[in-house]
Amino acid sequence: MAYSIGIDLGGTNIVVGIIDDTYKIIDRERAKTRAPRPAEFLVDTMAQCIDTLLMRQGLSVSTIRSIGIGIPGVVDLETGMLLHATNLFLKNVDFPALMKIRFPDIPVFIANDADCAVFGEYHAGAVHNYQSVLMLTLGTGVGGGFVYDKKIFRGGTGFGIEPGHMAVEAGGHIACNCGQWDCLETYVSIRGLKRMTEEALLRNEETILRHCVSLGESSFNTRLIFEAATAGDKVAIEIVERFVHYLALGIRNLVVLYRPHMILLGGGISHAGDVLLEPLRARVALTTVSGDVLPPPPIELSRLGNDAGVIGAAMLYSEGQSL
Ligand SMILES: [Zn+2]
Repeated sequence: MAYSIGIDLGGTNIVVGIIDDTYKIIDRERAKTRAPRPAEFLVDTMAQCIDTLLMRQGLSVSTIRSIGIGIPGVVDLETGMLLHATNLFLKNVDFPALMKIRFPDIPVFIANDADCAVFGEYHAGAVHNYQSVLMLTLGTGVGGGFVYDKKIFRGGTGFGIEPGHMAVEAGGHIACNCGQWDCLETYVSIRGLKRMTEEALLRNEETILRHCVSLGESSFNTRLIFEAATAGDKVAIEIVERFVHYLALGIRNLVVLYRPHMILLGGGISHAGDVLLEPLRARVALTTVSGDVLPPPPIELSRLGNDAGVIGAAMLYSEGQSL
């Protein structure tokens, strides 16, 4: 049995997992990222986690087929360089070269974390025998990626796609963290849902949201909005309709550009389930161009949760190969 290491290098935590040939995480280690830290220190932490896992599992380094690192930033496919990772305060870092110093005989791969998540789902999660899948992760921001024919699509230049930053309005209403305006992320993220809730509450209409929702930065619970909508609260229903409007618009744009066989939704907001999925599917079916001749792709929820990024990173070695 050969094993692969998958690393999810996040803004808050580093998760390192060992994956077996059936794409299962057989063991994992966690550490704090403690950004900002120099890349060398981050690699030290990752290497220590790998050593701990190997020791605990009684495995030698020679049983490890590859190391893959998923990172929230822009990666140059050609050189493997991380060009930019805002949350980690890093620029122009050669992570594979730094990892090679610790593990000279193991191939090292790196990719954007959203790409790793969709690659993990493609191989081991919610994607069953579809040739292509497009995934959107609805969290604090909106990540996304497209996998087809066992490869991550990174655009013509190899720098990756950013579906969360496509414009879904014109006219500069809402500023995005990326420096642009009216990105999909400004509407269908936790931040976007919180803003739409604040706007709705300002209208002084009677709503249970006024009594149950906390608008604090870390205490805002998106689930309550969807639960209130399910319970028939008019204001909550309006917020969910607005949310669905923008998400469907984004998906429509992605469908006409990429024609994926399947759309996957991940991230905390997707846990809302049917109260989100049912109106979303109906709206996408109504608005997708050529929907009458080419039916819209199925929209499903991701299966692997946070494990998707680790599994996808561990699978990077296999890109384009038939397994
Ligand atoms: Zn943006």
